[in-house]
Amino acid sequence: MKKLNTYASGGIDRAAKLRENSGWVAERLADPATRISPVWQARNLVDLAGDPTPHLLAPDPALLAEARAVALLGLVDGVAHFAVDLSHRDEETLAEIGVFEDLRATGPLMSHDDGALMAYARGMMHWHLAHLHCGRCGAPTESRQAGHVRFCTNATCAAPVFPRTDPAVIMLIHHGDHTLLGRQAVWAPGMHSVLAGFVEPGESLEDAVAREVMEEAGVEIDDIEYHSSQPWPFPSSIMLGFSGRAKSMELNIDTDELESGRWFHRDELLNSPEDETFHLPRRDSISYRLIRDWLDGD
Ligand SMILES: [Zn+2]
Repeated sequence: MKKLNTYASGGIDRAAKLRENSGWVAERLADPATRISPVWQARNLVDLAGDPTPHLLAPDPALLAEARAVALLGLVDGVAHFAVDLSHRDEETLAEIGVFEDLRATGPLMSHDDGALMAYARGMMHWHLAHLHCGRCGAPTESRQAGHVRFCTNATCAAPVFPRTDPAVIMLIHHGDHTLLGRQAVWAPGMHSVLAGFVEPGESLEDAVAREVMEEAGVEIDDIEYHSSQPWPFPSSIMLGFSGRAKSMELNIDTDELESGRWFHRDELLNSPEDETFHLPRRDSISYRLIRDWLDGD
């Protein structure tokens, strides 16, 4: 089996059946053994003594009452874990709880399972805050099933909305010993990566891969193959990794989307300076994994 991408579900049992058992959920929220993972404005509560780890709390009735959202994450070694959102709080009042950090900074330093738990908590809280009102009629929504569905409170509408994640394709395009990398002007100096883009309604994943490569680099591809996927909660994507073979090496880079893009020989990447003149994507990303596996011949 291929190794897991960073942030892919780790050692958690999502316990989907238990979400509907409101008695069990209430008991767990009153059980001092339960662990609570607070999120404030997309930042996770962490312990920074040593490498970052999730800072998990025992249930506190006052904290649960003030939370804007509460969601069951699942069971870790039989212990229920919940995420709670405290985004309404003023920043000055956070110190009494602890330190909230952006997973983009702490994630790469965490164990796989810890990073996965934080990504899940962050993703669920992002979804809740983005769906406090019904997308159809605008009435407030309310959370049910341990925070895994929200229902519109307008009785004539009553539309449900489920946690969602936005599919994005990301693809390593190759031609013999060369691969196509680009860079966006907003990226850190020197960073280059594979191409990516969101899937549009009415497209297969393969359609989206071929379209994005044509739009951004002007090259036709074939032999599109699935590689692996990665939850990417910044804020709400699932990255679907592919490879594809370019039919030619002729490029027509769309400079509205990319600052630059060109073919790189594998030797150039194997000898990457990894500095502000040129470096590969962050190590916790599927983009790095796609490049690394291609370089390794996988
Ligand atoms: Zn509604």
